[in-house]
Amino acid sequence: MYRRFSSLRERRCPQCGVLMESRGVTPKVRAEFCPECEGAWFDHGELKELLSGRITERFGKHSLETASPTDMACPDCAEPLLRRDLFLKSGVMINQCRRCSGSFVDNGNRARLKILAIALAAQRPPAGGAAGSA
Ligand SMILES: [Zn+2]
Ligand SMILES: [Zn+2]
Repeated sequence: MYRRFSSLRERRCPQCGVLMESRGVTPKVRAEFCPECEGAWFDHGELKELLSGRITERFGKHSLETASPTDMACPDCAEPLLRRDLFLKSGVMINQCRRCSGSFVDNGNRARLKILAIALAAQRPPAGGAAGSA
């Protein structure tokens, strides 16, 4: 995994405005965590990686229609973040930037995200491409 330049920049929590700290979530995924509210910022691609590639992070028609505005702004683009369901009825609400597709996940939803990630990892389909899993 290469590290994009943007992930080396300092970011401030969209909720509290304090500097976030980079921390590993899994061996492959690092996120920025807020020491105040324990919310986390995920770059585009990181949520997908966390969820075994089972989601798409870009805004689709449905997610745009159901998204609601927030008073938070993207730490990278300063675009207002939109609150939406991670995917239909996932129960995990994310606050996402339309421009860079980065997402802020608050502490409560981060706990739900973790449960979802474990569930999806356990459900990995046995279909083609699962070479070397034996
Ligand atoms: Zn915060
Ligand atoms: Zn952004």
